[in-house]
Amino acid sequence: MDETEEYKCVNCGEAASALYRTYGPSVLKLTKCEKCKGIVDKYIEYDPVIVMIDLVLMSREAQRHILYNTEFKSFWKLAIILIMLETYGVWRSDSLFSIGVNSVCGFENNSTNLSIPINISHSVPESWKVNCWAWSHVEKSDEDNDLFIWEKDFYVQFTSILCGILIFIATAHLLMKMVSPFSTNKVPIMRVFKAFTLADVGILFTLPMLVWGSDTSADTRTIHLLLVYLYSFVVFLNVFSVTYECPVPITILILILSNITKYITSFHATPVLRRLFAY
Ligand SMILES: [Zn+2]
Repeated sequence: MDETEEYKCVNCGEAASALYRTYGPSVLKLTKCEKCKGIVDKYIEYDPVIVMIDLVLMSREAQRHILYNTEFKSFWKLAIILIMLETYGVWRSDSLFSIGVNSVCGFENNSTNLSIPINISHSVPESWKVNCWAWSHVEKSDEDNDLFIWEKDFYVQFTSILCGILIFIATAHLLMKMVSPFSTNKVPIMRVFKAFTLADVGILFTLPMLVWGSDTSADTRTIHLLLVYLYSFVVFLNVFSVTYECPVPITILILILSNITKYITSFHATPVLRRLFAY
């Protein structure tokens, strides 16, 4: 790794110049942190499986290890897989976002569509409902049984979700910068992308329901999705706290705002993209 690159102590976040020192060919000593006197990064000796388990358990030490002390170079491959998974859920109308869209547009729920019990469609401004045609399209193509349209539909939805995610990252990053203008904690944009990818891994927990959940009731699916969303939100809170070192209430507020901008963007991006692809 680059000599000038700065590491961080996984326990307290204090900067460190090295993770270990070598004394001869077979002697290696882990560096101690100057602030908390603990080992700067115990994880460099750990098996990757242990690191992964600690990440699932939302350990901040493991998150710091990944974000600051490893290169995490192929994060974008992971990001593409995660965005595809999120797209698949939305494309199948099997996600919380789809529930929101169905409620906003007042679509009747059938066996495949989830919805919330209260009807909020009346209180939604008409200017929003103009875009509903793009979302009802999904069900029509379901009956068409046309693979080409299905595929095209997936790409449109993928791009729409991607736009939402980019807006999410931009909103979160700008707001975080605004609330701590004098912070010495520099957050390069690449680290933000890595942090997003690391936090977004929680979405993998929707996979069992998407694969094996076709027999389960809509209620069970909704509860499952809600639990995954809640878990995911806490992971985001942890990772963004580690990245920006802002107070927790501010981070929560910014994450909520960023999530709202993300879903509004995706909701409005899909009709634009459909017009662009002219179908
Ligand atoms: Zn420390």
